[in-house]
Amino acid sequence: MTIPPDAEARRAIRPVICYPNETLPVPDLALYARARAGAVKVSETLAPPRDAACFEVPAGHFFRISSVEGPQVGDLNLWNRDDLSERFYSGKTRALHGTHLTTGERMWSTFPNLRPMATITADTLGWYGIDSFGGSVHDVIGTRCDPYTGNLLAGTQYHHCCHSNLTRALAAHTGMSLHEAEPHVHDVLNVFMCTGFTRDTGQYFMKASPVRPGDYLEFFAEIDLLGGLSACPGGDCSAEHSSDTAACHPLLVEVFAPAPGALEGWQVPARNGYDRSHGA
Ligand SMILES: [Zn+2]
Repeated sequence: MTIPPDAEARRAIRPVICYPNETLPVPDLALYARARAGAVKVSETLAPPRDAACFEVPAGHFFRISSVEGPQVGDLNLWNRDDLSERFYSGKTRALHGTHLTTGERMWSTFPNLRPMATITADTLGWYGIDSFGGSVHDVIGTRCDPYTGNLLAGTQYHHCCHSNLTRALAAHTGMSLHEAEPHVHDVLNVFMCTGFTRDTGQYFMKASPVRPGDYLEFFAEIDLLGGLSACPGGDCSAEHSSDTAACHPLLVEVFAPAPGALEGWQVPARNGYDRSHGA
């Protein structure tokens, strides 16, 4: 390998943001806050440790994911309740908002829809920011812990990774078989997980989550949602994530309905406007 004479000059070129997001439609957070103030709780679901649960959230309702009992990371999947082919698009959400999400940012759906599925309206870990290791919380850079990677790296057969937990929960909720449900499970929003990439080797890292019981992440459902939440076998993800060794705790999901008329002026976002002719 030959290092070119202008190597330093090439490295010194300043980066440009791939997707300047000033033109993204802006959520009306003040409207959401007013609607939330008068909202009442209508249901709750508990994701048990090392297991997952599904829950439904009508468009215009709020849902809150809370840490209860102890520090715990959650792997969140979202689908259009009436069309599972529209689901959360982690990669495009990362491209639009960056590696970690917080209040005012949104979970975007897959092509050809590419519309907001949910908007984050509250984040009690918003104070964390980016630490000196480059770590932050609620990432869209990880995938979901899964038994295939464990088998690849260590030859294991472990059945309570988030991928399997979400597969079982989706099958139980919809009546699908495990094999029918599995392809619908997708890359997640890592709720409460603290992650980043090492500066020296560029490797994905995790560290003990700063979440404590009482902390929560709250969302406004922009469309009718089916959610799946797995209480990761990694617990607070301070050491391991694909075994039964970490201390694990449940996660609580609560759904809140706004008062009638509280969302005056709000509409379910339209599907993306690209005409899909693809130049043919
Ligand atoms: Zn996991």
